[in-house]
Amino acid sequence: MTPEQQAYAEAARGFMPPEEGMALWQAAKDAPRGPMLEVGSYCGKSACYLGVVALDQATPLFCVDHHRGSEENQVGWEWHEPDLVDPAVGKMDTLPIFRKTVHDAGLEDSVVAIVGQSSFVARSWTTPLALLFIDGGHGEEPAAQDFALWTPHVQEGGLLVIHDVFPNPDDGGRPPYEQIYLPALASGQFEEVSSCGSLRVLRRV
Ligand code: SAH
Ligand code: MG
Repeated sequence: MTPEQQAYAEAARGFMPPEEGMALWQAAKDAPRGPMLEVGSYCGKSACYLGVVALDQATPLFCVDHHRGSEENQVGWEWHEPDLVDPAVGKMDTLPIFRKTVHDAGLEDSVVAIVGQSSFVARSWTTPLALLFIDGGHGEEPAAQDFALWTPHVQEGGLLVIHDVFPNPDDGGRPPYEQIYLPALASGQFEEVSSCGSLRVLRRV
């Protein structure tokens, strides 16, 4: 990652701390070369870290998000950002900012936005993934669905990266830990490779 790319990613809108972003970038470098996919893109911050590796490797990074925000992004919730509501529609819309982030980062040749419900997209998915990054809906149901519907597409030797994994309940919500991280390890199909903050990197055995 060039210092310019790193500075741009750090300045991009979003909540991922810089050290977790760099761990995400490192995971993309360590993964086999091939298509990558992230579930949950918001304004494109994590896509900056993954997208530079995708661009270098001339491989796509698919970014799945309905761009209407998670539960905790809605009006009245802790992580709401009022300027992200489209007044004409009365709903959140992060797609314009996502596009601007990807454009300004020079990543339009590698990053492909897929706008829709994660589970709906997953049911039509067939391409094996060198890296899957799950950072979408953090409720029990969406997290469980992301585990069930997306993780089978990680290729042998490919990486599964999960964000907002909090083993200690005092640190944050349960579903990424209980519905994705623990079941992945319990399945015997994934082993842990590394961790940074709330980011966990697993490899498909
Ligand atoms: N990875 C991003 C942050 C993602 S925030 C970053 O690093 O900046 C979570 C995102 O998941 C939100 O943008 C929300 O719109 C999306 N999301 C939540 N549930 C979803 C679902 N069921 N289908 C598609 N996208 C979903
Ligand atoms: Mg997150």
